Amino acid sequence: MEQCPICLNKCKSNMWTGDRIYLYNIDCPQCGNYTTNTKIEMLIGRRNLTERQKANISAWLAENEGYEITSENLDNFLIKLKPPSFIDRADNLLRHIAFKSDFAGASIQFDKSFISRAWCVNEKELQAITDYLITTKRMAVSIEPEIRLNKYKVLPDGWIRLEELSKSNPKSSQGFVAMSFSNNEEMHLVGKAITAAIGDAGYKPLMVNKIEHVNKICDEIIYQIRRSKFVVVDFTEQKPNVYFEAGFAKGLGLEVFWLCKKEDIDKLHFDIRQYNCIEWISEKNEIYCPDDKKLLQERLTQRIVSMLGKGPEKS
Ligand SMILES: [Zn+2]
Repeated sequence: MEQCPICLNKCKSNMWTGDRIYLYNIDCPQCGNYTTNTKIEMLIGRRNLTERQKANISAWLAENEGYEITSENLDNFLIKLKPPSFIDRADNLLRHIAFKSDFAGASIQFDKSFISRAWCVNEKELQAITDYLITTKRMAVSIEPEIRLNKYKVLPDGWIRLEELSKSNPKSSQGFVAMSFSNNEEMHLVGKAITAAIGDAGYKPLMVNKIEHVNKICDEIIYQIRRSKFVVVDFTEQKPNVYFEAGFAKGLGLEVFWLCKKEDIDKLHFDIRQYNCIEWISEKNEIYCPDDKKLLQERLTQRIVSMLGKGPEKS
């Protein structure tokens, strides 16, 4: 494949034939690295995806390196993605440019990854987000006349904004777990997968004793959320305390990772799809993500590391 089937940019690819034939590793300047096959290319053509749907898939791939597109996750998940809010997208772009900067004040040359990181359909939409960052003095853009490409620079207010976004307990290595503590095997397995994922990402999981946790929000929970770096929330079974803990953590500015059993998604009291919720199913004592068949544990680790970097608990 010489052209990315999602964003149509020129891409590098290599094909391998394992037990499943014609798999392609794509390296796209906009979508990043992902895996697909020729059937998917055909399916995408047949689905008549809108520009917005393609942009959402491209953004998702950029944020989830190594993702494998299958016909199942294309139809059940990827084409239903919704973009985050305007401000979240502006923050994403700012974070991406800061990440590429070796030092505060560095100028970073525009490339196609800016479009996917800001969940944009095209450069025109990226311009709207860039304009917002310029107006708020978080970023500056200059044009290099010789190469006619824009250079982006994070300004002091931008660095301050990013610090504010990440300052919630910068030294903490604790990940708080909010979930239903029903006494059933499935939730027990999910709890195990979550704590293992947090550990694999290099953080310390904290699951407050379930007896204290059942009917009231006690001081201990407030205290523990306040001193956590992030919170993993599983909404399965719709427990009020779980909603409270998610909202409290979000209000503190902590990173929140959203999970829910696939069957329960429609019962949620609000639409959490905008938060990139990880959906799971259980099968033969394993907890899987149905959209890419990865283990929940593996997927959650990857999400935590991609948002917060590797934690200090493991080299
Ligand atoms: Zn692409």
